[in-house]
Amino acid sequence: NGTSKPPPTPSPLRNSKFFQANMRILVSGGAGFIGSHLVDKLMENEKNEVIVADNFFTGSKDNLRKWIGHPRFELIRHDVTEPLLVEVDQIYHLACPASPIFYKYNAVKTIKTNVIGTLNMLGLAKRVGARILLTSTSEVYGDPLEHPQNEEYWGNVNPIGVRSCYDEGKRVAETLMFDYHRQHGIEIRIARIFNTYGPRMNIDDGRVVSNFIAQALRGESLTVQAPGTQTRSFCYVSDMVDGLIRLMEGNHTGPINIGNPGEFTMMELAETVKELIDPSVPVKIVENTPDDPRQRKPDITKAKELLGWEPKVKLREGLPLMEEDFRKRLGVQKK
Ligand code: NAD
Ligand code: UDP
Ligand code: UDP
Repeated sequence: NGTSKPPPTPSPLRNSKFFQANMRILVSGGAGFIGSHLVDKLMENEKNEVIVADNFFTGSKDNLRKWIGHPRFELIRHDVTEPLLVEVDQIYHLACPASPIFYKYNAVKTIKTNVIGTLNMLGLAKRVGARILLTSTSEVYGDPLEHPQNEEYWGNVNPIGVRSCYDEGKRVAETLMFDYHRQHGIEIRIARIFNTYGPRMNIDDGRVVSNFIAQALRGESLTVQAPGTQTRSFCYVSDMVDGLIRLMEGNHTGPINIGNPGEFTMMELAETVKELIDPSVPVKIVENTPDDPRQRKPDITKAKELLGWEPKVKLREGLPLMEEDFRKRLGVQKK
């Protein structure tokens, strides 16, 4: 369209003989659940040097313990709402609390993280000529009126609700990504992530899979929020990380949905967790929170066609892996 400028060339510093690694990668939010699994995968490649910038709001050093002190790894305590000066080739921008209880806890901070944080990451990408990937969310579709959701759908989002700091925040983040792409020629990638689960989720993080597993292991009632017929589609974290890396390495800006199309009601999920962990725990219907989307399922045609990606781990295969991790952390032995 004539308005795009070519992307700036990567910093000449990268060619210096002092740099051993071929690719220096920044992961903002890398101490969190998805971020730390992404770091594990990136570190497996000896050509990668990984820098994590995280303020530890919901993440922790524990998630990265095995890399601390590694010569190709660096951890910086940093809040992305402040400018960051580093020299990198790629940026995976994940920093943002993902669980409703945490993103609602300080809504103003959440929107600053999404808007100012993304602006700073884009300013950084522009200065050093890095490619940047944003982890957006299926929440940009709001309480969707189309089902399943494909990337062309513009969404049904409440701009003034208690979730807006997160979903509208991510929508602005996507807008900023495209404006930097069109105006400054930045290489961008946008992933719309659907509900993801797996080991290292915060035990008390409030999301449904972690809640049900922790409750079943503690012998407490599983709290299904009313009506229990609302649906979600759950992607195991290793599939998610694989999708994110393919998107970064591929040639498509996105947005591209990354998620598992297997759709379950919350009641079905509760029954599955019961069956796997402890059939004797009761299910309790509790009050829901405002603006809870009634249904959600990704259309992953684009991911399949453009990235050659589709999820491999089924819910019934992934849940036991998470159970194992939660048992260790909660100190509950298998009977
Ligand atoms: P998480 O809360 O475990 O990780 C987020 C990380 O970002 C944490 O380590 C946290 O400390 C850090 N962080 C938060 N605010 C920050 C700030 N201002 N500066 C620096 N670091 C900050 O969540 P997650 O599940 O790993 O999610 C990672 C990304 O994926 C998020 O951007 C989230 O919106 C997106 N996402 C996740 C899901 C999911 O189901 N887990 C679904 C859709 C989108
Ligand atoms: N920025 C950053 N690191 C950099 C370059 C920029 O954090 O290496 C921040 C910068 O502080 C600014 C934002 O990114 O707030 C946007 O930068 P840009 O250069 O696009 O805009 P400007 O500084 O001209 O407003
Ligand atoms: N949910 C539930 N019990 C819980 C926590 C959540 O039934 O203990 C429901 C919630 O009402 C929603 C779904 O599970 O319909 C997914 O909620 P979560 O917070 O995990 O993710 P999101 O709403 O962001 O998809």
